[in-house]
Amino acid sequence: MKLTLSALIIFTINAAYANVQNAIFAQPITEQVTLLRSIDSSTNIGLIKTSQGVVLIDPMPGDEQLSRLRDTIQSLTYQKIPIRYVLNTHAHSDHTGGNAFFVRHGAVVNKPNNDIVLYKVRSHSSDDFVYYVSQSNVLFVGDVFDTSWHPTFYVGGVKGFTKAIDTILHIGNEQTIIVPGHGRIADKAQLREFQKNTLAWIGRVEALHAAGASTSKIATDPQILSLIEKFNNDKQKHFLPEKAFHRFIKRTVSVINNDKKY
Ligand SMILES: [Zn+2]
Repeated sequence: MKLTLSALIIFTINAAYANVQNAIFAQPITEQVTLLRSIDSSTNIGLIKTSQGVVLIDPMPGDEQLSRLRDTIQSLTYQKIPIRYVLNTHAHSDHTGGNAFFVRHGAVVNKPNNDIVLYKVRSHSSDDFVYYVSQSNVLFVGDVFDTSWHPTFYVGGVKGFTKAIDTILHIGNEQTIIVPGHGRIADKAQLREFQKNTLAWIGRVEALHAAGASTSKIATDPQILSLIEKFNNDKQKHFLPEKAFHRFIKRTVSVINNDKKY
């Protein structure tokens, strides 16, 4: 396997994942950007120093976790600097559940920031926002990309998904670090692989469905089994429970049928 420089950097950052404090993991990505994650939640939270103040992306729900998150943030390099701005990649509660907590502590939600470029796409939800921290060359892309689960292109369908990933691929350069909504940080090469595998998955489900195969039949197809394994980035032994696997096939079929209507 050829390791590109950015892949090597990402590997090093992921391997250096440490600094457990009050069950909050803090992973510095650059001097300006830190990735935070609570032990009770898989949501990737971004902490960014900007010229207008500290910005937090996607705080997860749970007051107790949020207090710990706040303590961790204050004990990091930011000291007692308050969180003034909260941004969300989309409206789902695992990404917005902490908004109210930070608003109570003086933050404003989804206010434009001079140091963060905003792109709007439509794939995982009807309003997916991608945030580019240009000074650090770091992108926060929410659940348009997930490195810990199967893809979830349910709102945008094939078109929305393709357009969303193409938009992200055009931002920054080959060294851009991509923070997915959940899972390990990645690079452009990994995102291209994700796009390719997702489209291959949809194509195979479509072919089997058109040939009259049921969900259970699709679930035993060797190509389908090898494609789903491509999303198992952490090589987990029990990656997708059967129920979730069948649901993913069914939802893919609905997306295909829905796409045909337009
Ligand atoms: Zn999510």
